[in-house]
Amino acid sequence: TRMNNSIMSPTSEHVTVEQLKQSPPKRNEETGVKRKRDAEESHIPSLRFRKLYLGVSLLSEQTWCEKKVIYGILKPQIRKKDKQRIEVQTGTNIHLARELEVHGVVQINIQTHEDAVANSLINMLNMIPILETGQCVREFPVFGVVEGVYLKGIIDELSYNQKGELVLKELKTRKHESLPGAAQALGHRFQVGLYKLLFDSLVRGEVKKEHILEHLKLKASLTLGAEVKTHAAGIGINVATFDELLDAFLLSLSCSDLPCVDVLQLEYCYQGSSSFIGSVSVQFDEVELRAELRGYLEYWKGQREPKGVDIEEGWKCTSCVYEEICDWRTSRSRLIGCTALIGYLFG
Ligand code: SF4
Repeated sequence: TRMNNSIMSPTSEHVTVEQLKQSPPKRNEETGVKRKRDAEESHIPSLRFRKLYLGVSLLSEQTWCEKKVIYGILKPQIRKKDKQRIEVQTGTNIHLARELEVHGVVQINIQTHEDAVANSLINMLNMIPILETGQCVREFPVFGVVEGVYLKGIIDELSYNQKGELVLKELKTRKHESLPGAAQALGHRFQVGLYKLLFDSLVRGEVKKEHILEHLKLKASLTLGAEVKTHAAGIGINVATFDELLDAFLLSLSCSDLPCVDVLQLEYCYQGSSSFIGSVSVQFDEVELRAELRGYLEYWKGQREPKGVDIEEGWKCTSCVYEEICDWRTSRSRLIGCTALIGYLFG
């Protein structure tokens, strides 16, 4: 598959947010990569919508309402009107400004999916030594196979606290100058938990070459695009093919002495003034997190139909952009109507 695309990559050169807004980065971790190669040719279970991987952000949105996530994929035109999405876009600019505080970014032309993945690997190779020397890195990519599914995401920030612990920080920007309610906070906690799971498994050497090649259906022997090769050479890695880069990445990771994440932190800031609202520490419970993840993956693996919100969370529907077309909400309203009628007749 040929792509004529460009993506942003960290560099020592600094550019401004305004320059970047004119050509916004295409970090589409939510939609997954659609490939035409047959899923049947591999032993890896196929995912709905022919996705090869799932983004951590997408899975955390699923904690709010699964039906809403599916409508977002099936009805992109309605999705664009979602006020929450507009808020997300505003947040993206704040994230970008923070990223530019620690490094600049360059635009890299990519020709293939292998180039896109290679770019993430180069970014990680660039950041690993920085993190090893105790400095802060931002927008650190993570990926791996969890519960049989390839997941990927981008960690907002990794840094060390005064005790020398590795802190994973996720910045959330808010329209209102207050901490989020319980339902929203649930998704945020799930998100940082997944990031820790992926990061820890990378530094423990649990991510194997075949995981990346097989799940993403990548061609190891493919020659990398000219700009990607130059980008790699810029950090001292001279490679010609995707395979060579992957080997260099896995070797560098196995030789690194990066620790697992010790502390998970959510930081909330107000979109209006970019001022700090508060920070919340998140407890990590791997058993609970994996059980929750397995529940969401059942849908993606085709083991069940999508679910909307429970009756007691019906308040979520009143601010949902899909309220008018949602069959889950309609059938729930009928159910409530029938229950009320039965109560009236026999109560
Ligand atoms: Fe989910 Fe309610 Fe929106 Fe339907 S209307 S997608 S159930 S939040």
